[in-house]
Amino acid sequence: MAVDLDAALMKILACPCPTHATLRSGTAADPEAEALTCTACGRSFPVTDGIPVLLLEEALPGTGPGADGVVGSGGSGSGLGSV
Ligand SMILES: [Zn+2]
Repeated sequence: MAVDLDAALMKILACPCPTHATLRSGTAADPEAEALTCTACGRSFPVTDGIPVLLLEEALPGTGPGADGVVGSGGSGSGLGSV
């Protein structure tokens, strides 16, 4: 079930990261998740009993700036020009 927070509340909520960016409901992986995701740093924060827990130490694992370490190197076309 998606997070259903008051629109006015969503406006004043901000990520605790240095950017203090706005948050959107859900996570990158699951838009219906009961969580809020920062639009700047990408961290997702859990929503417990309808109350967003906006603490950096409570950010969901696998989210945020340090989460994009795995980049698939497509392995496309190499070695075409063998002489
Ligand atoms: Zn953030």
